[in-house]
Amino acid sequence: MQIARVALDVPLRRFFDYQVPEGEQLSVADIGCRVRVPFGLRQKIGILVGIPTATDVPRAQLKPVYSILRELPPLPAAWFRLTEFCADYYHAPLGQVMLSTLPAGLRSLAPPKARPRCQRIGDLPAQPAPVLTCEQKAALTLLAAGDARAYLLHGVTGSGKTEIYLRLIERCLAAGRQALLLVPEINLTPQLEARVTVRFPNAGLVSLHSELGETARSRNWRAALTGEARIVLGTRLAVFTPLPELGLIIVDEEHDPSFKQQDGVRYSARDLAVFRAHDSAIPIVLGSATPSLESWANANDGTGRYHLLSLRERAFEGARLPLLRCIDTRFDKLKDGLSGALLLAIEQRLERAEQSLIFLNRRGYAPVMACTACGWTSRCHRCAANLVLHLADHCLRCHHCGFEERIPKPCPTCGNQDLNTFGRGTQRIEAVLAERFPQARILRVDRDSAGSRKQWEASVATIQRGEADILVGTQMLAKGHDFPKLTLVGAIAPDAALFAADWRAPERLFAQLMQVAGRAGRADRPGEVLLQTQFPEHPLYAALVRHDYPAFAATQLKERQSAGFPPYTHQAMLRAEAPRMAEALNFLAAARACPESENDPLVIHYDPVPMRLARRASLERAQLLVESPSRRVLQRFLARWVTRLETIRAPSRLRWHLEVDPLEF
Ligand code: ADP
Ligand code: ZN
Ligand code: ZN
Repeated sequence: MQIARVALDVPLRRFFDYQVPEGEQLSVADIGCRVRVPFGLRQKIGILVGIPTATDVPRAQLKPVYSILRELPPLPAAWFRLTEFCADYYHAPLGQVMLSTLPAGLRSLAPPKARPRCQRIGDLPAQPAPVLTCEQKAALTLLAAGDARAYLLHGVTGSGKTEIYLRLIERCLAAGRQALLLVPEINLTPQLEARVTVRFPNAGLVSLHSELGETARSRNWRAALTGEARIVLGTRLAVFTPLPELGLIIVDEEHDPSFKQQDGVRYSARDLAVFRAHDSAIPIVLGSATPSLESWANANDGTGRYHLLSLRERAFEGARLPLLRCIDTRFDKLKDGLSGALLLAIEQRLERAEQSLIFLNRRGYAPVMACTACGWTSRCHRCAANLVLHLADHCLRCHHCGFEERIPKPCPTCGNQDLNTFGRGTQRIEAVLAERFPQARILRVDRDSAGSRKQWEASVATIQRGEADILVGTQMLAKGHDFPKLTLVGAIAPDAALFAADWRAPERLFAQLMQVAGRAGRADRPGEVLLQTQFPEHPLYAALVRHDYPAFAATQLKERQSAGFPPYTHQAMLRAEAPRMAEALNFLAAARACPESENDPLVIHYDPVPMRLARRASLERAQLLVESPSRRVLQRFLARWVTRLETIRAPSRLRWHLEVDPLEF
């Protein structure tokens, strides 16, 4: 009798053994196939991970494998190494990691659909590549010389990073290999997809992201696994795509926090991509105008972990970098959130039939409503947060749990008829601009107005056709889109992030402002960027105005080094949530007191504390930070700790998770 060892999607750190029924014969070539097995009273799809000769399970208790699904090629060995690394590094159960990376259609019990053909757009002529700039040539020469290394491609917006990706993909395809291109946002896939497809019409490009329908996602995933698709373009989950002939990985906008999965297995797709490339001995290129400080340190710390490539100028003939300027709002006083200088600049754009973008990273009309008579404020009763006023939908809404209620007419506690609104969101700025420029066509683009892919694409098309004069948008609009008529960007309230408690806030602010500035003047029209600030001398703005990311990064890294923050230390966060704060804190205290925590002098444990958003959706949240100067020491500790954590007795409604390299605090 043969034994089949199977990985299943269950929160247990082990595999499960089954017996192979009479008449069925497994060989090592079947490892990596999906199998259908009984589990408890139900059935599950699992992955065959081994054919051991012995098992601890008594023979009589071994249940049979129901079927072996061989209609797909087995998952390749490199895929096993990647998922194993992910499970080890993030201390997640391996079976869960493995199964969660498959498209739902391939891990559910529904019968597999007939295999549709991979889409090919064969009659489109391939578009010729432009002549490379000197900087691009130099970068490509270095890329060819080093080969299987990790590269950090630092290039200002519009410097032609994407063109470099295309050349690398061309080389990769010519060598008979597959290429994987990762982007942070679903919204960025259609335009990049189009650009890659016109260059390589016959490469069977497929995209993989969470908004694809299940059938399409399974089909595209299969095409990658069978080798039919030579280029895969996707968001973070695509890092797990099995690609038997993978020859190149590109991570565009590598600094973007969206590469970090925020629930379930909390992995960084960028970091996994670096492992994957190293493991497969292939090159990886991490591209950004504002690299993450972790990557920047890896490229500049003299260890040669990453190899740095720089593009300092825009690629397009005659295109200049936008001119950035601070508007000192201590002197140019804001009226309804807008300075005189910015209003004037908008007016000039209207006269020249050019577009302006007003950037504000806060949606809604106003972040809070309040009663000045009694002190009532619009609070979410389920979260430790304010309800945001959404005038467009006539409601107050919680941005953390989604709770909604109607706007109270008189104050709910004292009956005062005049409730006040405080602060400004995109809807309010839209209203202010509409009043000020009645002749202008104003388009607001944020998660409320362009949340679905359809709405987003419609908005982009409107802007591209020149049917909007003033755009009001959040960071959604800041990323990667070319709007040729856009020549003015106004960042109206960037200061808050300068002094935020989160020490990563300046890094994110710099990246966002650089990115939104990159929207201005891409083609032959020079762009202007106005930053409304009370702190025009702040070093962050000073570096930004000079387009000097390296200077900004150097100061930030120095600060982090002296404060002992990443990348100079390595961190993990244990979080717990429960109906009562005491329960969450008690669990963390028990975690901190367990013997594993005590005997490692190189691992520092902080005190359990409530999280900044201490209550969300009626659950109290607390966290415990652990860190170590050595990644290896931290990892060894976490491996022992996590198995101990699973034995701590906790109230049944308590949930906890461990996050390695947390980005949010
Ligand atoms: P990035 O990815 O760095 O933002 P892109 O690759 O999108 O930059 O290039 C910006 C613009 O410059 C695009 O319109 C692109 O077609 C153009 N471009 C890129 N490389 C060249 C080149 N060598 N010659 C002319 N135009 C180029
Ligand atoms: Zn009141
Ligand atoms: Zn809420």
